[in-house]
Amino acid sequence: MPSLRVLGVWLDPTLSWKDHILTATQKGIKAFESLARVTSSVWGPSVRKSRLLYTAVARPIMTYGSQIWAVNDKGGPVSQARINAMATTQNKCLRKIMGAYKRTPIAAIERESAIPPIDLHLQSQATQRAATTEHHKVTQEIETALQQIWDATTAPPRRARGRPRRERGPKLESTMRTLHNQAIKINNEARQRQMDERAEANGRNGRRLRRPRTIQSRSKHGNIDAHFATVWKKRWKDHASKAGSRAMTWKGDWEQQPLSLYEGLLKHEATALFLLRTEVMGLRAWLARVGVPDIHPACDCGALRQMLDHILAFCPDLSTQRVELASKTGSTDIRKMLGDKNKVRHAARWLLSTKVLNQFSVAMEVEEEEMEDWSAFQALQDVPE
Ligand SMILES: [Zn+2]
Repeated sequence: MPSLRVLGVWLDPTLSWKDHILTATQKGIKAFESLARVTSSVWGPSVRKSRLLYTAVARPIMTYGSQIWAVNDKGGPVSQARINAMATTQNKCLRKIMGAYKRTPIAAIERESAIPPIDLHLQSQATQRAATTEHHKVTQEIETALQQIWDATTAPPRRARGRPRRERGPKLESTMRTLHNQAIKINNEARQRQMDERAEANGRNGRRLRRPRTIQSRSKHGNIDAHFATVWKKRWKDHASKAGSRAMTWKGDWEQQPLSLYEGLLKHEATALFLLRTEVMGLRAWLARVGVPDIHPACDCGALRQMLDHILAFCPDLSTQRVELASKTGSTDIRKMLGDKNKVRHAARWLLSTKVLNQFSVAMEVEEEEMEDWSAFQALQDVPE
């Protein structure tokens, strides 16, 4: 199908944006491949830096012009089917950033990396764009032109003299207008909520009428961001309630971003922490269950199934490591440590010290050779936040 490139956006004759989304996704895949070259689950830049490579480089390449193409002609979001490939590419990038296994639920990876599902990001971008351009001259001129075309094409045919004029045709509803209205609605709702909260706070203070605490009003963009974050939160909660797992990633307060827990960790430590928080990792019982050939589910100690609970609390071969952990943290309850900024590194180091996951063996050997300060990616340190 022939397409026309206008200001970096591919137009196809039916305005389905299929060609554009395809091209953009391919660019995103290329960006992902560059990301993959500098990062693996056990070496490469920190979570913060590789995450930045995604949000500042790869994602903008993919979502360029999305305020135009990610919106259907009713102002709603583009269909999920159309952006499936793009979502897959984002998921691949996030797995690289966090060192996640393929079978880790994507909701958990998004949560740990603090990167929202791509469809919500697209909607947020489009709505923010509409809020910004609402009063722009160009926008208004386009609206006026659209209205004129609409009036001309929907005007009733001329009537014979003397007859009363018929009513006008249906009202014009442009995508842009619908999006503007949506942005306005989100902002009004946010403002109302803030006023309610303020009133409630004053009410709690009883008769002593204190000067109302100034609540910092969010910007329009902040309100829109917050709105889509709420949608994300709801989605994540649904997943969490279905997960039925003890994994830490499904617990904790939504407002407390787990991403900060990974701050300052070396790549393999961050991966170890991620595996512990999501509880999806290559222990033998799991590998055997997912069908990896030539893997027996038993632990070296003789236990029938090498599972997380076994290595966390029971495996006799790992008692030295547990004692060491207890002497450093005053506890052997690793699950409890996984939400504690001061203890997550110890928990991660513990998993590494058990040597139950082969994927870390090279990283640990490198460490034993005292190359901890060695960095192949010095240049990345200069990337601004
Ligand atoms: Zn064992």
